[in-house]
Amino acid sequence: MLDVKNLSFNYGPIQALKDVSFQVNKGEIVTMLGANGAGKTTLLKTISGLQKPSQGLIFYNNEDITALPPEKIVQKRLIHVPEHRQVFSTLTVTDNLFLGAFHHYKKSGKKEIYNSVEKVFELFPILKERKDQLAGTLSGGQQQMLAVARALMAKPELLLLDEPSLGLAPLIVKEVLLYVKNLRDEFGVTVLLIEQNVNASLKIADRGYVMSHGSIVKEGTSAELLDDVEVREAFLGQTVN
Ligand code: ATP
Repeated sequence: MLDVKNLSFNYGPIQALKDVSFQVNKGEIVTMLGANGAGKTTLLKTISGLQKPSQGLIFYNNEDITALPPEKIVQKRLIHVPEHRQVFSTLTVTDNLFLGAFHHYKKSGKKEIYNSVEKVFELFPILKERKDQLAGTLSGGQQQMLAVARALMAKPELLLLDEPSLGLAPLIVKEVLLYVKNLRDEFGVTVLLIEQNVNASLKIADRGYVMSHGSIVKEGTSAELLDDVEVREAFLGQTVN
């Protein structure tokens, strides 16, 4: 579904991505691991068209989307949920959800959009309870659910999730990641996940890649990565003799 070939990106003199190549197959949850500054966020921003690579190609469903602007990429149902949630804090929960459907509301019509809101409320009942509350007054975990729920309103086929559990309590982290797994299992959404909680992310992912200094340095199934000495030492805080 997603085929990234030899992608590079520079912030001035800083080479944030160096010749990155990887794939995500339809129906998979793939996680991208890496220390702070490894280039994970830059990678997602480049895939969703927010910044253009200096080199390389991005194919989505066999179409070259490298040069497309982000609004065209969203229309192809490749949806990015950026770091730090970024809900519209002065709008209600329901209005945030409506905005998620912005790119297809003319085509879909009001009725379908209202139905989608109801479906999203079934998945996240707490958001239904808080539907008229201003998004900025939700708890961190609820805001994260709203960010994912808003992305669902865009009818994603591939969801790019950047640190969905950032700043959340451990119990809520598990809950958010279970929702992510549910999106794939129940709704067939393919997911590319960046997640600081490496253990929890490898538990829900099928495969993963490890980035270091802008390059992919390792790949494997989740079981292989969980068993890998370097991964265990670098990300799981385990000392392996
Ligand atoms: P984290 O896990 O800490 O979010 P990351 O793996 O997502 O890290 P990026 O945010 O992609 O890493 O950053 C990759 C590199 O690019 C880092 O060295 C960072 O300092 C640099 N960088 C990121 N954004 C900018 C920017 N707007 N201007 C200059 N350098 C940047």
